[in-house]
Amino acid sequence: MTDISVHVVVTGLVQGVGFRPFIYRIATRFQLTGWVINTNENVKIQLNGSKQNIESFLLALREESPVAAVLDTLSIIDIETTTAVNFSIQGSHDISAEITEISPDIAVCDECLEDIHETGKRMDYSFVNCTNCGPRFTILQDLPYDRPRTTMKSFEMCPECRSEYENVSDRRFHAQPIACNHCGPKYELYIGQNHISQDIADVIHELSFQIDNGGIVLMKGLGGMHLACDAFNEISITKLRELKNREGKPFAVMFRDLHTLKHYAEVSPEEEQALTSWRRPIVLLEKKKDSAQKPLAAGLNACLSLLGVMLPYMPLHYQLFQSLKTPAMVLTSGNFSKEPILVDNDKAKAQFSQKVDAIVLHNREIHNRTDDSVVRVMGGKERVFRRSRSFAPAPVRTALNTEGIIAFGAELSNCFCVGKGKKAFMSQHIGDLQDLETALFYEETITLFKQLFRVKTSMVSVDMHPSYISTQCGIQMRDLPITLVQHHHAHIASCMAEHKLDETVIGVAFDGTGYGTDGNSWGSEFFICDLLDFQRISHFDYIPLPGGDLAMEEPWRVAISYLYKVYGRNFLQLELPFMKRIDPEKIRLILEMIEKKINCPLSSGAGRLFDAVAGLLNLVSIASFQAEGPMRLESIVNKDITDRYSFTSDNSIHFEETIKQIVDDLIKGMDIPTIATKFHNTIIYVIFESVKAIWEKEGIRKVVLSGGVFQNKYLLEGTTLLLQKNNFDVYSHATVPANDGGIALGQLAVAAKRRE
Ligand code: ZN
Ligand code: ZN
Ligand code: FE
Repeated sequence: MTDISVHVVVTGLVQGVGFRPFIYRIATRFQLTGWVINTNENVKIQLNGSKQNIESFLLALREESPVAAVLDTLSIIDIETTTAVNFSIQGSHDISAEITEISPDIAVCDECLEDIHETGKRMDYSFVNCTNCGPRFTILQDLPYDRPRTTMKSFEMCPECRSEYENVSDRRFHAQPIACNHCGPKYELYIGQNHISQDIADVIHELSFQIDNGGIVLMKGLGGMHLACDAFNEISITKLRELKNREGKPFAVMFRDLHTLKHYAEVSPEEEQALTSWRRPIVLLEKKKDSAQKPLAAGLNACLSLLGVMLPYMPLHYQLFQSLKTPAMVLTSGNFSKEPILVDNDKAKAQFSQKVDAIVLHNREIHNRTDDSVVRVMGGKERVFRRSRSFAPAPVRTALNTEGIIAFGAELSNCFCVGKGKKAFMSQHIGDLQDLETALFYEETITLFKQLFRVKTSMVSVDMHPSYISTQCGIQMRDLPITLVQHHHAHIASCMAEHKLDETVIGVAFDGTGYGTDGNSWGSEFFICDLLDFQRISHFDYIPLPGGDLAMEEPWRVAISYLYKVYGRNFLQLELPFMKRIDPEKIRLILEMIEKKINCPLSSGAGRLFDAVAGLLNLVSIASFQAEGPMRLESIVNKDITDRYSFTSDNSIHFEETIKQIVDDLIKGMDIPTIATKFHNTIIYVIFESVKAIWEKEGIRKVVLSGGVFQNKYLLEGTTLLLQKNNFDVYSHATVPANDGGIALGQLAVAAKRRE
């Protein structure tokens, strides 16, 4: 057979993920000659050989590429037949100012884990990595991604590591963080302020001893510090809450392995895939109801049915579980509540040495902090709730020209986003900007992203809220055009951008709060909208929030507000259990505030209605973490119940009937899970009826769901199913958070569209 030659050009995330060695392996497997070369725009391959072998190569290229690689486009061009003696990997080339994508961090691979168990220079070595695994974004200081531009630059490779690094057939060929016991980073153990040991055996021994005996330890990880303790020890968990100043928010748990995890949580095939993926996120799972095992500590997750769990992803985690007696440990970010995750060794020692039983640090500097990411499987699909470690900074591919736009995001759960070509680079989860440290982290990371992606800022996109810190940051860039985007329009646009939609849709944005164009707080919007603009068709009736922000932390206040709206002061005669928990004097004060309209901003937030019902059902009085009310409501849903309550609607949606029927059911003594489920079913029908009404007038069939309320699995799945049964096309978030962490992408998309 005659030989032919082709050029193959691959774009996407193909650098720092072991792509060139992979190409080398499959080219030689099919006896092809030629070369592969990295440019900063793409990977170019020349292949010479038989047509059949080239086809086999292309099949392998598509089917066997490294786990973290993302093949965006692949083009094949026939060229004049040439010959070469072998297949070679050629040096990198910069051909333009374009910047390729940056690989997120990758969980340690099986082959590297085996290396730890073998004698040799990587025996028991906790920083083992290869081209298929290890740190990437967290150690990156600049591009192109080469060792001198990472925090590994301070470690000089030993001759053996160097020869692996330079050997094309080695698994560590051009693995930038390559290291071994002779030349790489090391862990260090501190107790109090005292340096105790650098020996990994001592480190593991002390960590496992402390955790197994009720202690709390601080350990430096991949994207920041973690605090850890035994997940079965109630007392340790109480101590951990005091130490972090974190009242009720659930903690995540790392299990020894999947087998053990399955004793404690229900795991679907999709959830198993998420748990074991190279990203190793925290996966929100349903706790097993009647496990034969010793139960996890109740204080872990505030008695909710959902549990955040993950599997080991760093060599140290595996090493630790070999020595630990407990099969599960709490692993939570090392910081005080609300502050960003700690990355600095000195700060960690200064803040925690008197508070924890042992500190384990290492000398590989973390340049970009990342929290553990959080996902939940809903409707059989993985949905990202917190997009950080191993997701950032992978771009979202859009259909718009976003070049040079910076979108500053929301105030809470902030992420920002920069545009490069059609790609939207979302930052890792930044956090709540009201905290000063977090605001500094925000500004630093914006500067870094501009530098990494060579962004020449040409446009700024911000939320309409005049006092958001993110808005103020954006507005400071005075000489640039600024686009203001309404909060819920940004939510819908974010989901549209994720699905590359650019047309008129029905947008349903449900969340807690967001600044509305009438100056009120919105959060239950039915829009007809496109990427340019929106028309507000309907929303929940406004309700006064006595005390403003305080009402968000104290759901009982919203419950009173709804009761007053329905019954006037007559509700005081109702025998409702939740009211017995509240000082009557406080209720009197709240009523006065409502009647005299003192500090009672109006809100239509769907989250507030969920709060009110959770308050009414006595599930929560004062929330100890964000969205506690809605989470408790969802937590007790009984899927077998199909009943629902009534509601009325005209220009807005009224829940007087709903509240009355809930109160009647309560007085009748109906069980709380049934009422909670009937309430959920009501909201699903509210959405369906409102969407149907818009369709009847406008004939639009595409429905986009966004906002934090759609992180409720029962609500999202129920709404989606009912709409789909009625021939609507339903779009919801998957790779971008439905909560305010996804807002920046929407801001970016709206700005890009308006600029067109
Ligand atoms: Zn590896
Ligand atoms: Zn070495
Ligand atoms: Fe929001």
